[in-house]
Amino acid sequence: MADRYLSFTGTAPGRLLTRRLGLPQPAALQRWTPERPSLKGARLLLTAGKSDLGLTDADTRTALGSLDLTTAPSEKPAAVVLDATGVRDVETLAEVHAALHPVVRSVADSGRVVVLGAPLDPADHHQAAVQQALEGFTRSLGKEIGRGRTVNLVRLTDAHAAESTMRFLLSPRSAYVSGQVVEVGSAPADVTAPHDPPHDPDRPLTGRTALVTGAARGIGEAVAETLARDGARVVVLDVPQAEQDARRVADRLGGTALALDITAPDAGTRIAAALPDGLDVLVHNAGITRDRRLVNMPAERWSSVLDVNLASVLRTTDALLESGTLRRGGRVVATASIAGLAGNAGQTNYGASKAGIVGLVRALAPRALAEHGVTVNAVAPGFVETKMTAAIPLFIREAGRRMNSLAQGGLPIDVAETTAWLADPGSSGVNGQVVRVCGQSLLGA
Ligand code: NAD
Repeated sequence: MADRYLSFTGTAPGRLLTRRLGLPQPAALQRWTPERPSLKGARLLLTAGKSDLGLTDADTRTALGSLDLTTAPSEKPAAVVLDATGVRDVETLAEVHAALHPVVRSVADSGRVVVLGAPLDPADHHQAAVQQALEGFTRSLGKEIGRGRTVNLVRLTDAHAAESTMRFLLSPRSAYVSGQVVEVGSAPADVTAPHDPPHDPDRPLTGRTALVTGAARGIGEAVAETLARDGARVVVLDVPQAEQDARRVADRLGGTALALDITAPDAGTRIAAALPDGLDVLVHNAGITRDRRLVNMPAERWSSVLDVNLASVLRTTDALLESGTLRRGGRVVATASIAGLAGNAGQTNYGASKAGIVGLVRALAPRALAEHGVTVNAVAPGFVETKMTAAIPLFIREAGRRMNSLAQGGLPIDVAETTAWLADPGSSGVNGQVVRVCGQSLLGA
């Protein structure tokens, strides 16, 4: 369903009228295209406090994704990285203000601000206070910066482990990700898959197999497409009723279709049987809504949502980890939702199922990495333009679209790009994270 308001505000009369009326002014977001794969403009590296990363300037630049960061831009910055890892007290926090205050205005449209922070030190409440302060700073700047620009915080200990994360956050691929806090740990040394071919940054998933559930349409289709773009062999799983669409998607991407209801008790075994050579990326995208207020909700509506969105995710993940189908260096990306973080009237079943995904990710991630060399993360979409959201009544739909810092709905590709970053072999330091793809929705923290 086209966003007519966004098209209208993209015209000169539309801009004028909506400005006069004080209505939201969504900017046209710059997304990745083969012709324009990166943001145009300078990349500026600033520091607040004495950096904790223990790297020289040159090292930092290389580690942060060979980003060619400059400290003295001659053109408008498209990306600004503020290294605030060394901020340990309120006095030094003032350097965050001093560093960004003069440059924020000049950041290009659809530009990026990434603040680098340190993990909170439980033994030092002053450090913890000011590092937590960076979170409130980042989220507030994200709400005021406008013009399609995004602001995110990366907490890290090892800049090298953050390369794929910085590459994503400082590119057009993260157009709808703002106000997020991502923790990047040290990448364990032994979790690269032994079968990995030499790394190709343009096709990082070359040689890998990815299975996406619910991929016959919507977000899942975009995820399958994006993982194929990045080099993966894709398996497009959907219910038998959607087999034709699943085949069409698989044929287009040179992959295979798997007609299977993910709630089947033996779904894990059947996936394992279809993938005798193993699996590297498992994307749990299939999901349904059956909305009713709790007072009107029959048990069947409750159980069908919990079964598709949560129970089947738990069952198949367990089965594919235990059978060894998910190989070392593997990735699990599950799909939560802002409804699972903030709650939503009429969605007690859906909100419960999606909050369950968050619990699953946080608890399983450390163990899956230690025991299987597999990372487990989630994407949490906000309002994304799909058939699922096209079915929402007009006024609620319009509110959903505008109630975020970018004043527009996301596109399936935005969730897909985020999934591709988490699936990247370089992302083994990103584990147990729930990343919202919501344009910094006003709902939930
Ligand atoms: P969609 O309804 O367009 O597509 C979902 C796909 O999942 C369909 O192809 C469907 O056939 C498949 N599916 C459903 N039940 C299945 C089952 N039992 N086994 C196998 N496949 C099954 O939905 P979408 O908008 O693309 O959403 C994708 C995911 O993103 C869902 O988990 C949804 O909850 C989540 N999400 C979407 C939004 C949004 O705004 N669209 C927001 C938050 C979260």
